Amino acid sequence: MMCSEKKQSTAFSTNRRNFLKVCMIGGVVAAMPGMSSPVIGQEQKKPGVLKLSSQEGRIPGKTLKEKVTSLESWGGCGMEFGGNAVGRVKEIQDALKGTKIKVSAICWGSHSGDLVSMDMEKRKKGIQDIKDALSAAGELESTGVIFVPCFHKQSTLQNDEIRKILIDILPDIGNHAQKCKTRVLLEPLNSGETFYLKKLEQAASICNELKNSGIAMMGDFYHMKKEETSDKEAFITAGNNLHHVHLASTTRVLPGQDDRSFVDGFRGLKIIGYQDYCSLECGCKKKTDPAVEIPKAFEFLKKQWEEATV
Ligand code: MG
Repeated sequence: MMCSEKKQSTAFSTNRRNFLKVCMIGGVVAAMPGMSSPVIGQEQKKPGVLKLSSQEGRIPGKTLKEKVTSLESWGGCGMEFGGNAVGRVKEIQDALKGTKIKVSAICWGSHSGDLVSMDMEKRKKGIQDIKDALSAAGELESTGVIFVPCFHKQSTLQNDEIRKILIDILPDIGNHAQKCKTRVLLEPLNSGETFYLKKLEQAASICNELKNSGIAMMGDFYHMKKEETSDKEAFITAGNNLHHVHLASTTRVLPGQDDRSFVDGFRGLKIIGYQDYCSLECGCKKKTDPAVEIPKAFEFLKKQWEEATV
């Protein structure tokens, strides 16, 4: 680099630093041309990242170590486990040791809707069980524990009654999550699977009301295709409450195996400066080999991420 160029570059860096300082103080809304970090409101966001993950069961392999090795070789950096991770902490830690794979999330589910049950014994048990899952998630340094309040037929309560129960019970659970350095991830589903919590804005409204960093949410591209009018807007509404994403196509197979586009949603993730994992929760098209198709899906997703300009 020539001296004059170096001088110019240093001057630009200084100006840019000063500009950022002004942004932070003055709350400038627009981003400077050429800057990779979007500035929204008064807060400067980090550029969003695409961290690819998969549920354990989606990866072929006879042992966990074999699955971890394959996922790493295909460019993944996260693995999502089921609720049985609670009893497998050491096994998981051992399998991930010395690899780049981290635990993305623990998919715990609804626990038969116990947490929103009117049977207080069931509710108490459900609350203890999710706390145990959060303790395991903390040990595994996981992003969070995925929680579905209830599936169809798991509650006869009205939506506002379920919401009230959640507002009552989640602060204590969220405080436990904070102690474990992890969080609850509320997952909206589609109307074929639940009557309650179907849109990202509903989960965001619970998070925003509670203002507890142990209570967060996620989005699932499969459900969002059925329930949201815009993936991008849904993620923007979720904002910094969003800490996990599930990936599946329209027919709930691997991304790229049908015509589902992820570009609009990825724009939303870039706009909010998303820093967590995007994890496969899907099947694999019949008569295709997941060991061939998963690396193709990851390449497809990387291309769609590049196409998602903001
Ligand atoms: Mg899901």
